[in-house]
Amino acid sequence: MYELMIKMNFDAAHKLCGYRGNCANVHGHTWIVEVTVAGSKLNSLGLLIDFKELKKIVGRIIEQLDHSYLNELPAFAHGGEMSNPTAENLSCYIYKKVKAELNSNYPEVKLSRVNVWESPTSCASYWEE
Ligand SMILES: [Zn+2]
Repeated sequence: MYELMIKMNFDAAHKLCGYRGNCANVHGHTWIVEVTVAGSKLNSLGLLIDFKELKKIVGRIIEQLDHSYLNELPAFAHGGEMSNPTAENLSCYIYKKVKAELNSNYPEVKLSRVNVWESPTSCASYWEE
């Protein structure tokens, strides 16, 4: 198997509703997003997927998050499918969007995992078995 990882980042604000502590206040992070894909078959150039193409896919997704107030996005807003824009929920949110893109455009490339770092020492991951 081959595995590739790309790393991108975006800046966005959030707050954690219902949290007791200073994370309940609006604050920002430079979120680091790591996307890992895997596959066993390389193309004729010896690539699993062009890093540039993977970055384009992830870039289109995080572009919608960049410089936003994450709590206002439909997925995280009151009544949305996710309770709060935590690193955990963001990793799942990004995973599902990247997975849909890969499934339709690169069916042989499997999404392994999405890591979301909210600080240099705190990371949440989402993957599906
Ligand atoms: Zn935070």
